Amino acid sequence: MNHQPFESWLLDDLPLAPEQRRELDSHLRTCPRCTALAETGLALRAPRMVTPASGFTQRFQARLEARRLAERRQRFWGLILFSVTGVGILTWLASPLLGRLADSPAEWINLVLGYLMFLISSVQVLTEVGSVLLRVVPGFVPPIMWMALASVLGGMSLLWTVSIWRFTRVPRGV
Ligand SMILES: [Zn+2]
Repeated sequence: MNHQPFESWLLDDLPLAPEQRRELDSHLRTCPRCTALAETGLALRAPRMVTPASGFTQRFQARLEARRLAERRQRFWGLILFSVTGVGILTWLASPLLGRLADSPAEWINLVLGYLMFLISSVQVLTEVGSVLLRVVPGFVPPIMWMALASVLGGMSLLWTVSIWRFTRVPRGV
């Protein structure tokens, strides 16, 4: 197809006579290449009307949406996993305490105090980690991400507390 003189008219952005305008319009109806050129020129001249190539944007957004969905699903299952393990560990953690309720109050208080101290030190470390994360991670992280992060930290702190608990209990020799 012959794109001249329409191509140069479009590229040079010259004022067209009514007759030329009609010729150009009829050519644009049959020529996708010059139509694209005309649209690009319009877009360049009117920045507010810029519409990016729709095919690309749609594909990009679809891929972004798919990834976002996958991440959301991952976070959801992560949350479930950590909730379940958290509850399980908590129950396991509480069982020796419950078993000790019958013991002498002094020993029981000693046990609880020791546990609380480990808990406090864990919280302190977690607070430090949290403040570092707050400084490093920009503010655009969605709330669900924070929930996932909190559950991860919670699970990790529980695991940590349990390991300390078990470590300190062994030398006492039951
Ligand atoms: Zn053409």
